Amino acid sequence: GRPGCQCNACFAGPDCSLQKLDCTADADSGNPLFLDPYWRRHAAASAVVVSGWHRMSYTTSDATFQSVELERQIRLLHTAVGNAVVDDKHVVFAAGSVQLINALVHALSPDANDASPPARVVATAPYYPTYRTQTAMFDGREYVWGGTTARWANASRNSTATTDGYIEFVTSPNNPDAKLYGPVLGGSAAAIVDHAYYWPHFTHIPAPADEDVMMFTISKLSGHAGSRFGWALIRDENVAKRAKDYVQNSIMGASRDTQLRMLGIMKAMLANLHTEEDIFVFGHDAMRTRWLKLNAVVSRSRRISLQKIQPQYCTYFQRIREPSPAYAWVKCEREEDGNCYDALLKANIITRSGVYFEAGSRYTRVSLLKSDDDFDVLMERVTDLVNAEKYDD
Ligand code: PMP
Repeated sequence: GRPGCQCNACFAGPDCSLQKLDCTADADSGNPLFLDPYWRRHAAASAVVVSGWHRMSYTTSDATFQSVELERQIRLLHTAVGNAVVDDKHVVFAAGSVQLINALVHALSPDANDASPPARVVATAPYYPTYRTQTAMFDGREYVWGGTTARWANASRNSTATTDGYIEFVTSPNNPDAKLYGPVLGGSAAAIVDHAYYWPHFTHIPAPADEDVMMFTISKLSGHAGSRFGWALIRDENVAKRAKDYVQNSIMGASRDTQLRMLGIMKAMLANLHTEEDIFVFGHDAMRTRWLKLNAVVSRSRRISLQKIQPQYCTYFQRIREPSPAYAWVKCEREEDGNCYDALLKANIITRSGVYFEAGSRYTRVSLLKSDDDFDVLMERVTDLVNAEKYDD
């Protein structure tokens, strides 16, 4: 049995081992429970016990809102993994990287007392939709959602166009299609590079990332999405100060309880790097196996297809590694499946429509990050879908 386990909706019984027949597979959210078995193996080493009297203060022990020791551990982890240059960066904590979206847009926008027009916040499709929904929620004096970069790229063909006042969100690897991308605007546009998935679980690491403004989250690194913890690495001191001010004004700094737990999680990950219990070995293995299984079935299909990802050299593993994306970006190939989300829903698979990513309804995103049970049910429903295909030739 699995103590403390909450049964997936498709399973029942005291140890969640009884599977309900023909249950709907839910592959919608990016809930990173694929790492649950890792932390069950490291339950004692990662446990944090907090007495009632502990950490009651608004501030940390050195009278700030950010734990100096946690910041140190984060810098150590980036350096050990080789996925970001930290020496010349400021670190700003936030309640998940969702909070960093507005904190960083605010930090890069013209001052509200400034005479310049509001910054235009843009992204290239397909992009993580929260950039749009978060920015649009606070549209106004400082910044507005400016749509996709495709519109801007057309305007840039006339020579008077300028990238001044643009803030471009870049996700690398991208959610939903798992590709590594860089900014497309360039010039004087600012870029916020979201590296939520720039860890060896999900991608090869060609080189340490070194953009001016980068965001990271614990959610996809250790899987502790519920702790709500993210951080930004920022080169410019003034931009870092404005981002920090945002978090301070909004929530008086990231939860001290969360920071304490994150310290335990960071230390446990660091202590196991390059051992048999390396979280990245575990994470890559889990995600790679899922991707292989899904590809094996979908390669028999003429109805649906997946994005292509090649094996690549990874500086962390120091070898060519097989692809292991967080999401499958599914394309429906048949004329009559113009709404891919609906086509999969009819086969009892819940996905996230490409419409949200401004990529059109021919695409839909399938999460590969969830629990083993979720993935098993997903594989059964996808297998049923592919087996049901019939062709005359
Ligand atoms: N950025 C990207 C690209 C994401 O996919 C997610 C979560 N799905 C987030 C940010 C937000 O993560 P969190 O708020 O949990 O840190």
